[in-house]
Amino acid sequence: MMQTADVAIIGGGAVGLACARSLKQRDPSLSVLVIDKGDFASGGSGRNGSAFRTLWSRDFNILLSKESLDVFRNAEEEFSYPRGIDFKEDGYLLVATDQSMLTKLESSSATLERLGVKSELLSADETRDRCRHLAPENIHGGLFGPECGTLSPFRYLDALLTSCRDLGVQVDYLRNVLKIEPSGQGFVLDTATEQVNAAKVIVCTDFDAPDLLEPIGIDLPVTKQRKAAMVTEPTQVILNTSIGFPADGLFVKQLERGNLILTLTTEMANTASDVTAPGWLHACASKAVEKLPFLADAAVLRCWTGLISKTPDMQAVMGETDCPNLYVAVSAYKGIMLSPAMGRVMSEIVLTGTTNHPSKVLAPSRFRTGKLEGELLTI
Ligand SMILES: Cc1cc2nc3c(=O)[nH]c(=O)nc-3n(C[C@H](O)[C@H](O)[C@H](O)COP(=O)(O)OP(=O)(O)OC[C@H]3O[C@@H](n4cnc5c(N)ncnc54)[C@H](O)[C@@H]3O)c2cc1C
Repeated sequence: MMQTADVAIIGGGAVGLACARSLKQRDPSLSVLVIDKGDFASGGSGRNGSAFRTLWSRDFNILLSKESLDVFRNAEEEFSYPRGIDFKEDGYLLVATDQSMLTKLESSSATLERLGVKSELLSADETRDRCRHLAPENIHGGLFGPECGTLSPFRYLDALLTSCRDLGVQVDYLRNVLKIEPSGQGFVLDTATEQVNAAKVIVCTDFDAPDLLEPIGIDLPVTKQRKAAMVTEPTQVILNTSIGFPADGLFVKQLERGNLILTLTTEMANTASDVTAPGWLHACASKAVEKLPFLADAAVLRCWTGLISKTPDMQAVMGETDCPNLYVAVSAYKGIMLSPAMGRVMSEIVLTGTTNHPSKVLAPSRFRTGKLEGELLTI
């Protein structure tokens, strides 16, 4: 049995679905097939901290987030999804706890201004005024993004899936792609059920991308790392904005109903395991209380762990591989918030062979040419 598709997308998380949707929007006559070995939202897209921010240091990330913001703001109409995706534009405060981070915030602020994205560079006192619950020590300044916020990842994924199916994209869950084989002008995908013959293939399996690419001689320096999050029981609503401490890898957000979501990046060995690393809960709780002392009274409800993709410059990978008509879109840990624009740019690359978007520098070939522009504001 051989199934055919003009474009096959491997991976049905936020990035894969966003690519599929944009392709169908650009060319409704295309047959687009999404195949995912897991169930709905079973990858990183169902395990993230729900944050969206425009505060980045590099042009391409700022522009990708600016474009994504428009999609999130108009999600109900954009996806014909009346329920909405619970996008709350209540801002994001990045706090510099050392001089070196303040310098990065300052240079990012200038870039944001040049690109027309709203942000406010704050002195130490202004940062404390913006959030009166911050521990006063070691605050060097801050950067506030009024257009940042959070969204419901599950609703967003459901909106994407609904829109994809409305447009005629076929999405198959619980179907593993075992192998990609170049064949003539296209590819044969070996799946657990029938084979798929596709003219073009986009690999959207995030941290798993090397598993499918290495066997056909494509070396992509994507690795994986455990990343954990916790949620507390509802408590009095105190924080009215998301807060990130980039030098410490800490993110804190309080939901309207009072629960707090926290993530902390720690050195958790690269592993295939999504079990929460020993010591993480304690490390996250202590760091959070150190920065926001009122959190000492919050009770943890649960924590969870996922895997994130890493690249040497911690930038996404977007573009055609050395094998013609085989493309890759890997998030490098910002895949929910940038996915609408990543999907749009990828569809342009796949259908026209190129893009004018500044994110063209994220092509896989950059690892060979050594042009790596690391992001300064990764948390
Ligand atoms: C704890 C945590 C907090 C995070 N916080 C944020 C945040 O606040 N904001 C943000 O934007 N991002 C955040 N992220 C990162 C974000 O979740 C990811 O960048 C994003 O979900 C990646 O989307 P994706 O579609 O590329 O990958 P995924 O959602 O992982 O989808 C990839 C899919 O590929 C499928 N797949 C893999 N191999 C195969 C195969 N061989 N055949 C078929 N299917 C295959 C998998 O089943 C999976 O469903 C966080 C991540 C974690 C773990």
